[in-house]
Amino acid sequence: MRAIGVHEDVIVVESRIWRTTATIVRSGDEAFVIDSPVFPDELEMLPSLLEQADFRFSGLLATHGDWDHLLGRLAFPGAALGVAETTSARLRATPGGAQRELRDFDDRFYVERSSPLALGSTEALPVPGYCGLGEHELELHPADGHTVDGMAIWIPWAEVLVCGDYLSPVEIPTPGASIEAYLATLERLEPFLDRAVHVVPGHGGPVGPDTARRLLEEDRAYLAALSVRALAAAALPQGRRDPEQRRLHAANLVRLDGPE
Ligand SMILES: [Zn+2]
Repeated sequence: MRAIGVHEDVIVVESRIWRTTATIVRSGDEAFVIDSPVFPDELEMLPSLLEQADFRFSGLLATHGDWDHLLGRLAFPGAALGVAETTSARLRATPGGAQRELRDFDDRFYVERSSPLALGSTEALPVPGYCGLGEHELELHPADGHTVDGMAIWIPWAEVLVCGDYLSPVEIPTPGASIEAYLATLERLEPFLDRAVHVVPGHGGPVGPDTARRLLEEDRAYLAALSVRALAAAALPQGRRDPEQRRLHAANLVRLDGPE
């Protein structure tokens, strides 16, 4: 697991799998962990990482309800987990869903965990809205399209945008909910790229604002071509044409043709 300090109050860690990111943000004597790494040893390392950096843990946030972003409670059992109202509704509608997908992953890769994941109660946060942290407030903005739920988190004093599964330098867009919603989220995120010093996508990050802007244009072009099925796999954005991205692209086409 890699840990990168992007501001005196913000550390980004990146999991060994899927380059899934978690962002640790501090204000005063409080700190939130946004999203999560995936492997048990990475999760076990989090509390001591916070301690070493003099970040006092106070709670968890998740950008969206996909299981690989929800594992914070394995590192901080019993901690409060704040999610967008849309994510809270999604988790309530599919009880045990994230745990099942985690179990499938663990079975497939022979991963052993010492305790099961408890997602029983979450704190539903109004989005758009604000979330207090120490002496500051985090800004919460809707970020749906990849999934039906989700939020992007703007950290004003650090000028860091934690955007969930958008603007990834390693993964093409997967508009699991809708292409229109995905494009609307990109539009909502765009103005922040003029203010951000760092952008932390859900997979592969952090990136600078220039890279984020390039990714946003590439993703827009990709989604436009996808929506009219006018795209060969070979025309995927440069740097995101590997076999896994071709597989995701094929899955995007299948989803497009499937029942809505
Ligand atoms: Zn993800």
